[in-house]
Amino acid sequence: MLIVIDQLGSWVLDQQLHLLPSGSAIRRAYEDGASHIAEFPYASTQTAPGHASLGTGVTPAVHGIVANAVYFPERGPKKTVDDGKHAVLGNPDRFVSPTQLRAETVGDVLHQQTEGKARIVGISIKGRSAVLPVGKKANVAVFYDAVARAMTTSTYYAPRRRLPDWLRDFRKANPVEQLLQIWEPADPATLEKHLGPDASPGEMYPTFPHDPRNAPDPWYAFAGTPESSEYLMAAAYAVVKAEQMGIDDVPDFLVLGVSGTDIVGHVWGARSWEYADNLRRVDRALTHFVRLLEARGPVAFVLTADHGVAELPERARAEGRAGGRLSGTTLTLAAERAADAALGEGDWIAAYVPPLFTYTDAGKTRHKDLTKALRKAMPATEGVKAVYDARDPAKLRSSNDKIQRLIGASLPDDPPGDLYLVTEPGWFDALSEDGGTNHGTPWDYDRRVPVLMWGTAVERRTSQDVYDVLRVATTLAALLNVPPPGNAPPSPLPGVMRLPD
Ligand SMILES: [Zn+2]
Repeated sequence: MLIVIDQLGSWVLDQQLHLLPSGSAIRRAYEDGASHIAEFPYASTQTAPGHASLGTGVTPAVHGIVANAVYFPERGPKKTVDDGKHAVLGNPDRFVSPTQLRAETVGDVLHQQTEGKARIVGISIKGRSAVLPVGKKANVAVFYDAVARAMTTSTYYAPRRRLPDWLRDFRKANPVEQLLQIWEPADPATLEKHLGPDASPGEMYPTFPHDPRNAPDPWYAFAGTPESSEYLMAAAYAVVKAEQMGIDDVPDFLVLGVSGTDIVGHVWGARSWEYADNLRRVDRALTHFVRLLEARGPVAFVLTADHGVAELPERARAEGRAGGRLSGTTLTLAAERAADAALGEGDWIAAYVPPLFTYTDAGKTRHKDLTKALRKAMPATEGVKAVYDARDPAKLRSSNDKIQRLIGASLPDDPPGDLYLVTEPGWFDALSEDGGTNHGTPWDYDRRVPVLMWGTAVERRTSQDVYDVLRVATTLAALLNVPPPGNAPPSPLPGVMRLPD
């Protein structure tokens, strides 16, 4: 089983670990399992590329999922899991599938090696986190949809537009409406002692309690509550039982994408009361779920994250570090002004979808001059480190400069944009003008994540080394007793014991 705790950077876990109860799933994994630090070997540290890399063992340059969303000349900005074909059951305007994934996953290899007998399931609150790490051969991928107001799937997995029976039953027994509740922290005194006061500058809704029913869309706000992770794990156990996972001789593969940690982290920051109380609830639900799985038979767990996160800029600056928010509008305006100044008044920039600017057809015909002008002008905007020509990823990959190599690893040879933007450390594309934080940069706090492993065929190992996170895919393959996918690294992470043939 692969557990992806969305946005759990290694610096975040370092700060949160002592707030989790001893003997919990995460504490036990950290203290008794194989416990490593790994880093994403590319710059575009967003959710979709992260989940795709964990499942495939290759960078976005190879699997093609560059970012959560990219600009398509014919369709405009679209999510990379939106193929315009596979509609979500209960929300016909939304599309989710793994069809844009260009590399095979551990799940694909397992499917082939077991001739379709292995059960392969992805489940998450987010669509991209359910479908990308399992790949194209998954039996089912299930995710939450705020319009459907429940866990659902897409026609990629349910071509006859019928929910699996277990999911119908689960939805009937677990209506989300009953989970829209006031969120209060369990232990405010401990939180105050370790984290300071509840309200910190930069938090979007500074103080507890929080009630999703007061949000403009309570069903959307649900995804940022601790209840959403408990709901997710209840659904995960329902699918484990329905698919009879983990009880015969054929290994099965479950990917659990915990998304609430990311949403809470974006809104309140990783050092907030909200983050800590939510992570404690996630850990408690996970501890219960792990026990249920261990009772079914031999099982191995790999827990990691899809990226890290920046701290709240207000907090960084108060403590003498750099940080700030950039808005897409500011960046687009700065690019348009610089383009007009260099090439004359015109329509040169089609879109900015982080981290890529796409030029218009007119801009593309002047690619070299336009890129040169923007390279010179864009760093004048506070918080912008540099912009890079995205049209020649091979050149970036062979650069002597680490940032350029990381960008090159983020881009396939047919990149979905023309210019790649990198912010200064501590700075990021803001999701909201009202505060909060983000990730997506090549800086270490966004790239470094923990990898914790425990269970069958895992032994205690730890070191000070920083490993390539792509080895997670190889590790999963070793635990499933199948060869690693296509171009994944050859060796699993330390701690996997050799399985008997
Ligand atoms: Zn994420």
